[in-house]
Amino acid sequence: MTQQQPQPAGTRPYNFSAGPAAMPEAVLQRAASEMLDWQGSGMSVMEMSHRGKEFGAICTQAEADIRTLLAVPEHFHILFMQGGGLGENAIVPMNLSRGTAADFVITGSWSIKSQKEAQRYCTANIAASNAGDHHTRLPDPSTWQLSKDASYVHLCTNETINGIEFQQLPDLAALGSDAPLVIDFSSHVASRSVDWRRVGLAFGGAQKNLGPAGLTLVIVRDDLLGHALEICPSAFNYKIVADNKSMYNTPPTWGIYMAGLTFQWLLQQTEGALTGVAAMEQRNIAKARLLYDFIDASSFYLNKIDPGCRSRMNVPFFLADESRNDAFLAGAREAGLLQLKGHKSVGGMRASIYNAMPLEGVRALVSYMREFERSHA
Ligand SMILES: *Cc1c(COP(=O)(O)O)cnc(C)c1O
Repeated sequence: MTQQQPQPAGTRPYNFSAGPAAMPEAVLQRAASEMLDWQGSGMSVMEMSHRGKEFGAICTQAEADIRTLLAVPEHFHILFMQGGGLGENAIVPMNLSRGTAADFVITGSWSIKSQKEAQRYCTANIAASNAGDHHTRLPDPSTWQLSKDASYVHLCTNETINGIEFQQLPDLAALGSDAPLVIDFSSHVASRSVDWRRVGLAFGGAQKNLGPAGLTLVIVRDDLLGHALEICPSAFNYKIVADNKSMYNTPPTWGIYMAGLTFQWLLQQTEGALTGVAAMEQRNIAKARLLYDFIDASSFYLNKIDPGCRSRMNVPFFLADESRNDAFLAGAREAGLLQLKGHKSVGGMRASIYNAMPLEGVRALVSYMREFERSHA
C-alpha cells in the first residue's frame, strides 16, 4: 500500500454532503493520532474487546457526554444501537405499537418511509400530510387527525431531503392525545435543544451530525420499555438493550468512539456566554440566515420552502436556469465546495450545513454563488 501525505490542518475543502457528512476536523485529527494506540493501551479502538475496561470507559464517557449535551433527564435511557434510521422505522413499532395503531405526520420523504414500514407491524394512520403542498410547508398541528387509540405519534423533525424542519415540538396533550411522541431527529440531533417533556422516544443515525455511519442513537423514556412484540429480535428489543447498557451484542465500537470524540468537541464549543448545543444552535441560526438571505435576495437562485419552517441543516436550492446546474457543480468542486448536488427526488442543489460546517464554509459557498451569478446572469 502506498501512503498518502496528510493534508495540513485547515486546508480541506468544505463538504456539504447530506450524509454521511463532514465531521469536525479536530475530531478526525484526534482519531488519526490515536488510531494505532489508544492512550497507551497498545490497541486501536477497533481492536478492543467491547467488554474490556478501555472500551467500557469510552462508552460510559460518550453516554454521559450526550446526556449532558442534550440535557437528557434521568428517566430516559440512552441506547447505542445499529440498523440506522430505516432500521428504527421497524424497531420503533415492534417495541412501542403493541400491534395496535400509531399516528404519522407526513412532512417529506423520511416520514413517508417511516409510515410505510410501520404498516408491517401495526395500523399506521396518516394524521396529517403536506403532500398537497409538495412538502414545502408543515401541516398546522391544529389540523392533525390524531386517533384516540394510537400507541405513539411519529414525526420526522427535520426532513433532510426536503429541507423542512419543526421549529418547535407539538404539545400532543394540548391536541387531545396522550400518546408518546416519537421523533426521527437523525439530521438535526445536537444542532438545537430538545424539549424532553414533549418526547417519548428520539432516534437518529449518527452519520449526519454525530459521527460515522453504523451507529444509531436512541433515547427512550423508561415507561416505554418492556412492551415489545414477540417477533422483535432480541438485539433490537429496547428493554434488553437498556438492561445490558448497549452491550447485549457487540455494539458499533468505532462509531461510539468517534461520536464520543464529537461529543467532547461539542462540549468545548462556545458562542459568547453559550456552550455546547446552545452555542451550536446560535452558530447554526447564523449559518442558515446567511445562506437563506442570500438566496432570497437573488432571482438567480431560489428556495421553495415556507420561511417559517426552513431547515437550518439542509438547504435545498435551485438555479432559475437549470441548464447551468452542471457548470455550477463543476465550478463549486474547483472552488473546494463538495457534494452540493440535490437529492435525485428533488433535483437542484442542496447544501447541508451541519454542526461540523463552520460559518466560513457557508461564507465561501455564498461568495462562490455570488460570483457564479455575476459571471452567468
Ligand atoms: C439519513 C436519514 C435517515 C436514514 O437512515 P439510515 O441510517 O440510512 O437508515 C432516516 N431519517 C432521516 C431524517 C435521515 O436524515
